[in-house]
Amino acid sequence: MHELTTLKSNASAIVLGAGVSGLSVARALLQRGYSVTLLERGEAGAESSWAGGGILSPLLPWDYTEPLSRLALRSMTAYSDWIAAIEAQSGMHAEYWRCGMQAREVAEPDTALAWCHAHGLAAQRDLTQSRDNLWLPGIAQVRNPRLVMALREAVTRLGGVIHTHCAVESVSSQGGRMVAVHTLKGTYMADQFVVATGAWAGSALPNLPAAPNIRPIRGQMLLFKLEPGVLDTIVYRNGLYLIPRRDGHVLVGSTLEDVGFDKSTDGATRLRLHAEAAELLPALADVQPVQHWAGLRPGSPDNIPIIDRHPDFENVFINAGHYRYGVTLAPASAELLVALMDDTSPAFDPTPYSWQAALERRWIPGR
Ligand SMILES: Cc1cc2nc3c(=O)[nH]c(=O)nc-3n(C[C@H](O)[C@H](O)[C@H](O)COP(=O)(O)OP(=O)(O)OC[C@H]3O[C@@H](n4cnc5c(N)ncnc54)[C@H](O)[C@@H]3O)c2cc1C
Repeated sequence: MHELTTLKSNASAIVLGAGVSGLSVARALLQRGYSVTLLERGEAGAESSWAGGGILSPLLPWDYTEPLSRLALRSMTAYSDWIAAIEAQSGMHAEYWRCGMQAREVAEPDTALAWCHAHGLAAQRDLTQSRDNLWLPGIAQVRNPRLVMALREAVTRLGGVIHTHCAVESVSSQGGRMVAVHTLKGTYMADQFVVATGAWAGSALPNLPAAPNIRPIRGQMLLFKLEPGVLDTIVYRNGLYLIPRRDGHVLVGSTLEDVGFDKSTDGATRLRLHAEAAELLPALADVQPVQHWAGLRPGSPDNIPIIDRHPDFENVFINAGHYRYGVTLAPASAELLVALMDDTSPAFDPTPYSWQAALERRWIPGR
């Protein structure tokens, strides 16, 4: 993936939502010469993009549809350079770490290995424990709260303006074009608009219809603090994962709960996640979590985001619905959206990420 950094456009753009999806697009647009304003209801990057784990891969990469895999693999290949550029622009460190992943008790390890081989993803049997365990040395992670802070700083240093506590409440349009968005702090106008409101893209605003099939899916996470080095790789088993940070923190996740816009946590889930995590890493058995939180993923069928022009407005675009993998998918999603906005040919087929394709997809519970 090559980032287009040549100045091309003198256009102005307003991005709704300053999570990883909105910030990544804003940065890419700024590099193309757009003037960019982000309007964020709360603090930048404080919703799903903060709450997630930062694994830079689908959990069991062989378990997904080709459109998701294509976007993920393109992003995963680009990630270390993408992060390095953001770190250089921001002067901040996002803790990208190729720590690898152990996938334990894989249901069909031969099929999984064949998939990895066919898709250029390094994988081998991890015979130290069981024939059904796989070791994926190339899987990386990023400390996602630090990534969003670095992105926010890069956007600002590139000349972008971020208005926080500035929720878009309605929009107005004329002749198939959006002309303005309205907030309690005032009205903002631009040539082009990007909807990157995560789980909220699935809810309509006055004069802005809801994006199809996007809804919040809650995920609860636990955080532990161990000595650095006790765990130095991601471990996954049967829906549960452990993510080590360099400083000894270990994240444990997660749940998939279809409960609406409710970020509460519960004690029963804390106990279950803790017990299952301690089976994978006994050092966790006798320590209590230092934090327990929940975030709202922008859920979509098959985890496939909508990256497209809005069907009702020629100057409105959407980048939302990345479900479990929005941090992973950020570079290639921004690349595709900016190509669509610039009217240049995308580097890969955009059809599966279209609004129309999202209308046709159906939810599969538990994915
Ligand atoms: C528990 C958990 C674990 C996860 N683990 C991983 C992982 O390991 N790897 C991975 O790749 N992904 C992971 N994810 C998924 C990832 O976090 C999301 O897919 C990604 O953060 C989505 O980014 P976003 O910018 O689209 O949404 P968000 O980060 O939710 O940002 C949307 C923003 O829009 C703002 N907004 C909404 N409505 C308005 C409005 N009307 N006006 C202005 N602003 C508005 C919101 O306040 C919010 O800041 C995880 C998520 C969770 C919850």
